Amino acid sequence: MASVILENVVKHYPNNDKSTIKDLDLSINAGEFMVFVGPSGCGKSTLLRMIAGLINTTSGKMFIDGKDITNLPPKDRSISMVFQNYALFPHLDVYENISFGLSIRKTDKKEIDKRVNDAAELLGIKDFLRKTPKNLSGGQRQRVAVGRAIVRRPKVFLFDEPLSNLDAKMRTQMRVEISKLHKKLKTTIIYVTHDQCEAMTMADRMVVLHNGIIQQCGAPSEIYSSPKNVFVATFIGSPPMNLFKGDIIKKDDQLFFKINNTALTLPLKFPDILSDESSDYTLGIRPEHIYLAERKPNDMLCSEAIDCEIELAESMGNDVSLHCKAQGLEFQSNQRHDFPIKTGDRIKLVFAIDKLHIFDENGVARPATRERSDRRKS
Ligand code: ADP
Repeated sequence: MASVILENVVKHYPNNDKSTIKDLDLSINAGEFMVFVGPSGCGKSTLLRMIAGLINTTSGKMFIDGKDITNLPPKDRSISMVFQNYALFPHLDVYENISFGLSIRKTDKKEIDKRVNDAAELLGIKDFLRKTPKNLSGGQRQRVAVGRAIVRRPKVFLFDEPLSNLDAKMRTQMRVEISKLHKKLKTTIIYVTHDQCEAMTMADRMVVLHNGIIQQCGAPSEIYSSPKNVFVATFIGSPPMNLFKGDIIKKDDQLFFKINNTALTLPLKFPDILSDESSDYTLGIRPEHIYLAERKPNDMLCSEAIDCEIELAESMGNDVSLHCKAQGLEFQSNQRHDFPIKTGDRIKLVFAIDKLHIFDENGVARPATRERSDRRKS
């Protein structure tokens, strides 16, 4: 187990106008499963490759287990990397692929045999040790690639979009296997993905990256419930958070959010946080916090009922995702499937006031609405 620390790390590719990674600071705890997540091109792989030593940093420092590794070659960094395309040798069998790194380091043959067999046991690939990659499924190949990383006994595992080439079912299965493997090995893992679902389910903590800048770093539940800005609010969560532009107005000493071009005004529960009227704000609410008026939880403070038309009702098995229209606004609401709703119906919905998010004109969340409410209760 080892910590990984990045200090003021910058990457500027010579042929680019802007830096790909901009003055990035990050501290990853020993044994932590840290996920870098963000849209394509945000710099996730660049960051991982710098930690691996496959590309240089432009400036800044990196430490593994307290040791400055910034200028060390990859082989001296105590890391193992698993790639998206598995990078197996086609002419070598599974045993030879897994043991390759140890053989070129002239590790004792008995030790190699023990490590390969232990890894094969752990990954459930003992029966394939004499097969070549072309005779394996995508999931089996990815297990071999993981096995090759395990036998090196690194201080840190680096995974670069390892599940992207697998079909949906196999992806879900491998996701669980890698999470279980982490619990067994307790090694620090840094895992890159563009898939927010993978990040949410696997990470101890995750970094949401956009344009080479950390937008937010924290536990998945914290990022989901308290996104720091509009980018995080819409990138994390499926379907994404509904956003409405509007103004904050005051009536009889109570603040309301008035949604642009509608008659909809929602009371804001924490007026002390937003003490003044302000324009160009954004209100956010997650689809699961918009309830059917007749089914709203008793203990939940909700808006007045809003008359909506259902443009589309998408069945998701247990839930139904409603694409709603009201006063020219379009938004999504998730409901349990046991309520009969179909496309074209008109229904009344309410917004949970306690679950509203407010973002200022720069898209930044107003500080800790939820935290304030928690403090008041305690
Ligand atoms: P991600 O992994 O998040 O998809 P990358 O780290 O691969 O993003 O790329 C981030 C940005 O850096 C992209 O705009 C990409 O074009 C640029 N980039 C990546 N590699 C190079 C390179 N070798 N030379 C120049 N630009 C690069």
